[in-house]
Amino acid sequence: MSRAVFLDRDGTLIELVHHLTDPGDVRLIPGAGAAVRRLRAAGWKVVIVTNQSVIGRGKLTEAGLAEVHAEMARQLAAEGTQVDAILFCPLAPAQKDPTVIEDVMRKPGPGMLLGAAAEMGLELPACWMVGDTVSDMLAGRNAGCHTLLVRTGYGADYAHDIGALDGEAPDLAAAADIILNKTKNEEQP
Ligand SMILES: [Mg+2]
Repeated sequence: MSRAVFLDRDGTLIELVHHLTDPGDVRLIPGAGAAVRRLRAAGWKVVIVTNQSVIGRGKLTEAGLAEVHAEMARQLAAEGTQVDAILFCPLAPAQKDPTVIEDVMRKPGPGMLLGAAAEMGLELPACWMVGDTVSDMLAGRNAGCHTLLVRTGYGADYAHDIGALDGEAPDLAAAADIILNKTKNEEQP
């Protein structure tokens, strides 16, 4: 079994752009590429789990999303790293409450995390979900993972007391520090 850090994309790994469709708008959050590199060097899988309602809303095709992700991969490669997998949910929500599971595959549903775990042989109780919204935290909790909120993206305004946080960090770089420090005395994944 191996362990993974599940990362939200928008506002966690890359700068938040509402309904991002243009690869030219992709910008890694400062320190985020190095955080991915450090996690992978310590033996963690890094898996993106992202709600992409832009597809369900008809604003972006799956081919267009692949171009956005190619640009993200190019920027990660420039930082000497990559991610192990990218899972996305294309569904557009029918309502606005981010705590309601409309479909198991759309966060806060745990489907993307559970699917990755089955595919990659991940030990979910040893995994972490890092993100900037309540739906990220609930998806992690619903999958049985540890959860860490970052204060980038929408996390800057996160004030809900939803009881699904195991911790918080200013950004992904600091979140990686927390994960690496908590696990440095444990057996390498
Ligand atoms: Mg986000």
